Amino acid sequence: MVRVARVAPGGIAESLGVARGTEFLSVNGRAVADFLDWEFLTADDELVIEARQPDGEAVVYEVERPEGEALGLELEPPTVRQCANRCEFCFIEGLPEGLRRPLYLRDDDYRLSFAYGNFATLSNLKPRDVRRILEYRLSPLYVSVHATPHEARKVLLNNPKVPDIVSQLRTLADGGIQCHCQMVIVPGLNDGAVLEASLSDLWALGAAVPSVAIVPVGLTQFSHLYTGRTMDAAMAASLLAALEPWAERARAVRGTTWVFGSDELYLLAGRPLPGAEYYEEFAQVENGIGAVALLRRQVDEGVAGLPWLGGVRVGVVTGLSMAPLMPPLLERLHGATGATFELIPMESSVFGPTTTTAGLLVGADIRAALAGRPDLDLALIPAETINDQGLFLDDAAFVDVRDALPIPVHPSYDFIDVLSQQRARPRPTRRGAARRGAARPAGRAA
Ligand code: SF4
Repeated sequence: MVRVARVAPGGIAESLGVARGTEFLSVNGRAVADFLDWEFLTADDELVIEARQPDGEAVVYEVERPEGEALGLELEPPTVRQCANRCEFCFIEGLPEGLRRPLYLRDDDYRLSFAYGNFATLSNLKPRDVRRILEYRLSPLYVSVHATPHEARKVLLNNPKVPDIVSQLRTLADGGIQCHCQMVIVPGLNDGAVLEASLSDLWALGAAVPSVAIVPVGLTQFSHLYTGRTMDAAMAASLLAALEPWAERARAVRGTTWVFGSDELYLLAGRPLPGAEYYEEFAQVENGIGAVALLRRQVDEGVAGLPWLGGVRVGVVTGLSMAPLMPPLLERLHGATGATFELIPMESSVFGPTTTTAGLLVGADIRAALAGRPDLDLALIPAETINDQGLFLDDAAFVDVRDALPIPVHPSYDFIDVLSQQRARPRPTRRGAARRGAARPAGRAA
């Protein structure tokens, strides 16, 4: 059963009398268990929908709709399937107290993997789920593999009942499902021989595994379950060295880099980040794979179209790990717009000094960074700090934080998105320039 959260005015659903709270039970004789069933079963243009109205009355809607026209309704958010693992490195176990409640939910849901690109381990898949993935062709999925050797994976996921991931991926591959995979590397558990064996197994799945992301274990000072080693520069360098032969082979044989180290690995190892072309389609950019290269590319492509902002003072709030990468970009933006940019690196007040990601800054950090800065004309903050509901991790609403600050504040993904919307300022005139150029040394006769 799925329940209606909102009915769009003037749409098909409203004309049928569907109301907020209506429950849909079946479509064309097939039971509706969740939003996936609803999405796929209502793809037809002729529908017989069994429903229960908010007052409990049963009703049947018969719908014949013009091809492709939406029904005009939104469903309540799905109940998320929870994780059955207990990874020592689980980021959720490393969250401090007092953040938004949904952040503490350990989701492991193949449906969200398909719909939103969330990573799932597939360790809670039931035979019925596999049938649905194949029938609905839920591809691509995003899968946390971590290790393919079964014993190593049991240890990493801290779950003795975890199924064999290679046979799961093989079943999906045989059904035409692609899986972008990731391995979170825990030093001593899935580097070295386990990493090699895992890449070998994933490679053997061919086109069904179009990319593999290698990500260092991400810990905070609150990661109370973790007993292993932390990632250091030498380990990061050796991981990149282990990946490179695989990437070279993949480029030679399949024409794709295939296995990618995360940006964080390059930064930890002190190595320059590859250029944008290395990341091809940026398939795992949300996973920190090529995010910096994409930002650089977006700035490169966008600067020419920016308005002249000479005299405007822009504050740029970012996290400690991004701060060293910013000056060349800000210099570029300064050259194109004439604006001055001031970098304001901030430490997350809730995660502490060991967690330096810009996206983990909270509303209180933004206030602290900008409350005393009326000297700026505007400020840009990382858009990743705010969720779809406009909330920071500490539950502060962006609009409240913004309204309490003395200058306009804009969430920005790539600078271009905000700067391109600014009102152009007058450029210095040619006459002024000519006058300066025409000045002659004193005392020389005309
Ligand atoms: S799979 Fe592991 S890391 Fe992911 S939510 Fe579950 S316990 Fe946490």
